[in-house]
Amino acid sequence: MPTSHPLPPRSIAIVLGTRPELVKLTELIRLLGPAAHVVHTGQHYDEELSGRFLTDLGIPEPTYLTGIGGRPRAVQISAALAQLDALFLAEPPLAVVVQGDTNAALAGALAANARSVPLVHVEAGLRSHDRNMPEEHNRVLIDRLADVLCAATPENRDNLLAEGVAPELVEVTGNTVVEAVHSRLPAADERSAHLEELGLTPDGYVLATVHRPENTDDPAALRAILTELAALAADVPVVLPLHPRTRARVEAAGLAALLGPLRVTRPLGYRDFLALARHAALLVSDSGGVQEEVTVLGRPLVVVRNSTERPEAMADFATLVAPGPALGRAARQVLALGAAGRARLAALPSPFGDGRASRRIVGLLTELAATPYATAA
Ligand code: UDP
Repeated sequence: MPTSHPLPPRSIAIVLGTRPELVKLTELIRLLGPAAHVVHTGQHYDEELSGRFLTDLGIPEPTYLTGIGGRPRAVQISAALAQLDALFLAEPPLAVVVQGDTNAALAGALAANARSVPLVHVEAGLRSHDRNMPEEHNRVLIDRLADVLCAATPENRDNLLAEGVAPELVEVTGNTVVEAVHSRLPAADERSAHLEELGLTPDGYVLATVHRPENTDDPAALRAILTELAALAADVPVVLPLHPRTRARVEAAGLAALLGPLRVTRPLGYRDFLALARHAALLVSDSGGVQEEVTVLGRPLVVVRNSTERPEAMADFATLVAPGPALGRAARQVLALGAAGRARLAALPSPFGDGRASRRIVGLLTELAATPYATAA
């Protein structure tokens, strides 16, 4: 049941557009109940990343924007901005919430600013310091516009203070992914049944995801990653839920043969993904969210990227590698640590929070709605 709070129906506009935003805002939306007005830009438009995924998480039917999915970045932002502006004019919210660093989140932030609606940024202060990532620009811009910055960790808050953000705008809330994992991880018997159906044994497989453009859109990087995963599959089953972008790029680059040794599946629903992640001997991924989830599940991860905005995960849980032989080497090293290595991780707390971030954010929204709005200086 949603918690009791004095927020009127549909007074909090939650602007989102991609799979990770759905995951990380699901608990906040549940707690807000009728006060939440979910607006989906359609940035992710595949059924598996959006429609089915939304139902799976139990998110209420959103207001959908049109003409955004699959368009260039500037068009995504400007088309969403124009539609959000009309929406906020017709039905002014008390606050706008955006999460993370997507084009949808930046459009939501700009639209809130244009209509003088207070903006809450969930997962503020992440920095990869990698200006080649469009997400890095989105993050910085959203943080400049936000009135309440919900930093997941003290390190995220420090990044904001170092950029001159006023300390009174920043709250360390924890990351909402922690409660997403706690609330959506299937129970042990359901997980065992799921693994059995797939012919997998606990601690006896690798779970991999690859979807970032720097890995999928560069045929050499994609070939290098799939070659390493295929080699690993000679020793241990490698499950690869294939993102639609990656599938398209594998086919276009003529790399389909490299998928042969892998257990390729469609993108999984969140609960199914967590069930597999919970018992994987190792995860290999370029995802941002997976870097956080492994710390809650206590599992090791090899991150295939040139940079990360989540250094907190690197201390114990994850190793950063570039596409190529370093991936295979790092994976084998982690697998060699075996049960003792996994037991060590399982005993460590997640650096991303205590599972109460969404509750704290509801509290901040309630306070915000009760305060006359003055644009931050
Ligand atoms: N995920 C999922 N099914 C899959 C692969 C990933 O539910 O088959 C989840 C994963 O647990 C994480 C989110 O999708 O919560 C990550 O989304 P993505 O990798 O698209 O984005 P990023 O986190 O890199 O922004």
